[in-house]
Amino acid sequence: MLEFPEIINIAEQIKKYVQGKRILHVLPPTKPHKFCWFAGEPEDYDTALCGAVVQSAEGFGSYAEMAFDNGKKLCFNDGINIRLTDRDKVPQNYQLLMEFDDATAMVFTVAMYGSIILHDGDFDNRYYLKSKTAVSPFSEEFALCYQNLLNSAKATLSVKAFLATEQRFPGIGNGVLQDILLAAGVHPKQKIGTLSKGEQDKLLSCIVSVLHSMTDKGGRDTEKNIFGQAGGYQTKLSKNTYSSGCVQCGGEIIKESYLGGTIYYCKSCQKAPSLCK
Ligand SMILES: [Zn+2]
Repeated sequence: MLEFPEIINIAEQIKKYVQGKRILHVLPPTKPHKFCWFAGEPEDYDTALCGAVVQSAEGFGSYAEMAFDNGKKLCFNDGINIRLTDRDKVPQNYQLLMEFDDATAMVFTVAMYGSIILHDGDFDNRYYLKSKTAVSPFSEEFALCYQNLLNSAKATLSVKAFLATEQRFPGIGNGVLQDILLAAGVHPKQKIGTLSKGEQDKLLSCIVSVLHSMTDKGGRDTEKNIFGQAGGYQTKLSKNTYSSGCVQCGGEIIKESYLGGTIYYCKSCQKAPSLCK
């Protein structure tokens, strides 16, 4: 799934490589996917976008959004993969295909579930609005936002639940979370109420520095950019690496299911005084 670093990079790539292209046609799904959502009928996207020029792109939280010169916008979220390719290399199956007048096309597919929403700038969806109005981890206000959320959250909440659920921090999901917590030396199941002020501050600085590092390197190596290339950030705790041990101490990495996703942690580097179940 795409998270903040990939979303930012995909938006930047759209600006660099897709902006200025004119849409010839938009084609609806070749095969309907149960967990891919559209605004109205995807068959109608062509009428709305045919002839429009891609004007800009923006990434926020867990959404990337393209804007067109006719006022329309198209946003998609973390479960959608997009690829820019030559029109003659388009795969057989897709959820949406945007053909441009220069013989290229943008292919939208769905990983597990996701939305591809065409709107007039008025998309009224809880998750979208949370992402749109979220304070960026790269902005100066983020520290205050983090502290306020930490102060108002239940002390018995686990660190993973605090950071990666309820859309408190849109774009921080179960993926980027792993390396942030390793850097901070915090166990994913540690109760937030047991974090000392020093640990709270360290966690904050690791959220920012790890996300910066991931973003600067073009996203994580577990995810792909619009050309289908893996990101340049080498994950330390992920499906790619957990069997090779902890990069910090060489110790064993534990893999567990927790709160609807797989967590990885190092028993030595991420100790906690008391754990959530
Ligand atoms: Zn370790």
